[in-house]
Amino acid sequence: LKNDHRAIPVQADRMLADLQTIRQFGACGNGVVRRAYSDLDIASRVWLARRMEEAGLEVSVDAMGNVFGIPPGDGPCLLLGSHTDTQPEGGWLDGVYGVIVALEVARASIEAGGPRIACVSFQDEEGSFTPSTGSRVWTGSLTQEVADTLVDDAGTPLAVARQKRGALPVAREVSPSLFSGFVEMHIEQGPVLDRTGEKIGVVDSIVGIRGQRVTFTGEQNHAGTTPMQMRRDAFQGMVRFVTVLNDRFKDVVGPTTVWTIGQANVHPNATSIVPGKVDFWVQWRDGDDALLDRMHEIIDASAADIAAEMQLTCEISSYSKIAPTLCFPAYIAAMSEAAEARAPGRWRVMPSGALHDAANVSVHMPMGMMFVPSINGISHNFDEDTAIPDLEIGLEVFAEAIARIAAG
Ligand SMILES: [Zn+2]
Repeated sequence: LKNDHRAIPVQADRMLADLQTIRQFGACGNGVVRRAYSDLDIASRVWLARRMEEAGLEVSVDAMGNVFGIPPGDGPCLLLGSHTDTQPEGGWLDGVYGVIVALEVARASIEAGGPRIACVSFQDEEGSFTPSTGSRVWTGSLTQEVADTLVDDAGTPLAVARQKRGALPVAREVSPSLFSGFVEMHIEQGPVLDRTGEKIGVVDSIVGIRGQRVTFTGEQNHAGTTPMQMRRDAFQGMVRFVTVLNDRFKDVVGPTTVWTIGQANVHPNATSIVPGKVDFWVQWRDGDDALLDRMHEIIDASAADIAAEMQLTCEISSYSKIAPTLCFPAYIAAMSEAAEARAPGRWRVMPSGALHDAANVSVHMPMGMMFVPSINGISHNFDEDTAIPDLEIGLEVFAEAIARIAAG
């Protein structure tokens, strides 16, 4: 009956055991150090590939080192997954929870004769070379040729690093056309679910990120002899700009909009010199492109106004833009129904403030994401953690959502 199709009988104990096993590759206190293409990363991929085979999946590892497990049978199927590489000081769940949950759902579905489900661990999501290298090359937003010229902190080109494959099988490419959609489970990496006591975040968008460099130039002068009313102090201009910007944003932004003034440089940065120049980076994020445009206008207008008011010159020298990505509405609906069935009243629809592989994959197919809570919102840190019961609820809700999506 219809409800029977809506349950893939996942086993939480087996998922948790796999999670603890892969944690040993690079374990460091409560956290993990497993950088892309390190010996530990390759060893963990070999282990993952074997677990996929034991589950009845056919393993393909492409030239980038993305590990795919594909179920028997024909026709497009759902692809689930995330990444298993970590930050230089990483948590034990960031990325890998989504991969192990994907493996458990694919495995349980084969055992129960359920829908065909594939799983993947994308390579280098954490940016040893550039953020989400593996999924960008797989989806074509970055060509292998260009990616190969990127170097890591040690100066090793990707072209060399990716030749290290250990006991991984010979490279075999996997076409995105094999898949009907992509769904990624991930820890939230922020405080929202932990603070509210909710168990599941159904992601509706992955935020867009805009940024630009602003330079105020005034007049560098003696800090003792230059009267206050004669100064053209660039640092004071930046401080005034930040205050004005926060004020002007107030009535424009939404509850999940964020903006950051970072990477500020004061010139010449000396105790007895009135700063003649300051440059800084303004970054702003939201899921709504039109709002990001509106914020951009406010930033430019505010910089111009402050420059005029304080007799500074203002220059905008570089600009970057990553568009927001919307999750597939039918996936949001299926996840919401599954969350309400298994964690009634204890879930929410929310944006993802961090970038994920799912944003790249969404170019080729419908995409969805789900979050579980992060204790105190901590991530990219050895102390990153999620309560075990929350990992179990996440698996159950995710499996039900996948069954609903697969049933159409
Ligand atoms: Zn991650």
